[in-house]
Amino acid sequence: MAPIDRHAADRAADHTPRHPAEPHTPEHRADRRTATLALAHALTAAERGLAVIPLSRTKLPALRSPHHDEARHHAVPGAHAVPGDHTAAGDHTAPGAPAAPGHPASPGHRGMPRHRDAPHPPSPCRGECGRMGHGVYDASTDPHRIRELFAAAPWASGYGIACGLPPYHLIGIDLDTKSGVDAPAELRELALRHLFTIPETVVVATPSGGRHIWLAGPPDTVVPNSAGRLAPGIDIRGAGGYLVGPGSRTEHGVYSAVPGTAHLPPATCPPALLRLLTPSPRRRPRPAHAGAPADPQQGQGLVQFVLAAHEGQRNTRLFWAACRAYENGFGEALTAPLTDAALRVGLTAREAASTIASAARLTGHA
Ligand SMILES: [Zn+2]
Repeated sequence: MAPIDRHAADRAADHTPRHPAEPHTPEHRADRRTATLALAHALTAAERGLAVIPLSRTKLPALRSPHHDEARHHAVPGAHAVPGDHTAAGDHTAPGAPAAPGHPASPGHRGMPRHRDAPHPPSPCRGECGRMGHGVYDASTDPHRIRELFAAAPWASGYGIACGLPPYHLIGIDLDTKSGVDAPAELRELALRHLFTIPETVVVATPSGGRHIWLAGPPDTVVPNSAGRLAPGIDIRGAGGYLVGPGSRTEHGVYSAVPGTAHLPPATCPPALLRLLTPSPRRRPRPAHAGAPADPQQGQGLVQFVLAAHEGQRNTRLFWAACRAYENGFGEALTAPLTDAALRVGLTAREAASTIASAARLTGHA
């Protein structure tokens, strides 16, 4: 089998350090053409003012942290802002990947990695050491630097666009269509309820049928990353996050701009949506009339939201509604109506109680 032997010889002769996370088989490495295309797309994005980093086929930053080994011995407890690990949930789900919407503990739960044995131990360095491999902190609009980054990661098959940076302060609205969640419908519902419209802007289609909507944020507002906080299936890529750029090839396929949107500038995020994206205090001050009944209208909306759940959304919707109720100070008051709604859509009393208790814990009410 001459071709295989030749590959083996190539590997033996190649002394370039390989990314340890990358499979060493040639078919898993980006071929030269894929790598060249990824670089070309990244350079084009940079010309538009978007700061980029090389991504591997797994949608993770292609360059490994230079602190991988040292950090293993000097782990910083609680520090999950791991370079090369920039996702909303602090785990290794890449941006654009499903945020496990059916999992009650995951939405918006930052700093709680699902995989505690993360392959990248925490390091406080965000590139101050001058080396490459700090994930989104490597992001650059400088063509020379971008070529350096891609040269150091010849297995890169795509690129990530850093969110939250000038000039656009990019915000990504990541709409998932898997796991029985209809995120576009959730967004439409949200838009109706909060009276905003999504302006004409760049939309990127993901290989799984999802959509990334690009919006420009104001320079003085930090939009945090979140997964499922806004609504089931809707993840937000904000400061410290990144979006898989159009033209990127991943193991699931190619990301591409929806026709007609590629050359639009990211449109300004509608103020009503921006308010939903910016963090609210976990415990709002009690209303002046303490003990006054909560806004029955608002609570009713959340109950309706649960009642309208399809089978695959029941638990997620209940969790989301209970979180919003707790955040708005009427979690206790709404527990019975929400439980009732959950039973009516087919959850068991035990499931409902457990999901509402998770929401209480997550919002600091338990
Ligand atoms: Zn460093």
